[in-house]
Amino acid sequence: MDLLKEVGNVKSIGIAGHMRPDGDCAGSCLALYRYLSRINKEAQIDFYLEEIPEKLRITEDSDRVLQNSDNKKEYDVFISLDSGSSDRLGFAEEYFKSAKKSINIDHHISNTNFAQVNYVVADASSTCEVLYELMDKKYIDLTIAKALYMGIIHDTGVFKHSNTTKRTMEIAGSLIELGVPFSEMIDETFYRKDYHQNQVLGRCLLESILLLDGKCIVSSVSKKTMEFYEVESTDLDGIIDQLRITKGVEVAILIYETDFREYKVSMRSNGVVDVRKIAVYFGGGGHIMAAGCTLHGTLHDVVNNLTPHIEFQLKNS
Ligand code: 5GP
Ligand code: MN
Ligand code: MN
Repeated sequence: MDLLKEVGNVKSIGIAGHMRPDGDCAGSCLALYRYLSRINKEAQIDFYLEEIPEKLRITEDSDRVLQNSDNKKEYDVFISLDSGSSDRLGFAEEYFKSAKKSINIDHHISNTNFAQVNYVVADASSTCEVLYELMDKKYIDLTIAKALYMGIIHDTGVFKHSNTTKRTMEIAGSLIELGVPFSEMIDETFYRKDYHQNQVLGRCLLESILLLDGKCIVSSVSKKTMEFYEVESTDLDGIIDQLRITKGVEVAILIYETDFREYKVSMRSNGVVDVRKIAVYFGGGGHIMAAGCTLHGTLHDVVNNLTPHIEFQLKNS
């Protein structure tokens, strides 16, 4: 896909990422917003996201994010980032659908190719990596570089997940060359936790249970607990990674309550089990080693629904 050709001459461009934006989602939106502002100075460019978590608000454009869908705007081009399906765009989906041209840039293997123009690179570490490859390098300034770097470190777990390739490292190297303060970015956007976040992490570890002969670890957070510690879903970042590295574990599951009898499920695998398959079965998506979905019922129902799928895959591996 030639990004310049797609958006170079249009008058209005919209950008959106998925609900509950993570580092790759926020990073790719911030990077593309800035990039498009540089390559098409005439166009009106808007970007839509749910509230960007404080630690991911790394560029000055973070304040430009729009959170309403009141203005009935029809964009010439609307670009979806880091979203496997259009419903993941949440409130911005209507803009995507009403645009004259829709573009989908992503790296999820489960992507449903829902746009008029689809550019999905399933073996790329992150949407930010896909974007870097699409960008004319002479327009990449330090602001864009920082945003792209954030997306890459978040989706690779700071270069440790199996989606990290030689190319990922080369791109990260080029971004560092542009002056990205990498130590600070890794600490401040990825590892930093405040006191409450640490307390919830501790509690999840304390209350975790081992199932399936110690091959599956499950922990959960109720709404009540989240209210008690004054945390939101983004404050749970990293907990699942700690669960996943428990010795002997093949699959880690973190469940948090989102509504009455409604739970968001995050799954991580060490490679034997394809958690994407399980997430897709329950209407979600993601990658082989990191996937998620929403399930209904009691917490007990949720766990009981998931574990047979894991057990089946472990037996047949
Ligand atoms: P996380 O567990 O960090 O929320 O998500 C892990 C991966 O699964 C991410 O790539 C994310 O996009 C994907 N994912 C998580 N929840 C859902 C969901 O409900 N639907 C879809 N399609 N993908 C999801
Ligand atoms: Mn994402
Ligand atoms: Mn991503």
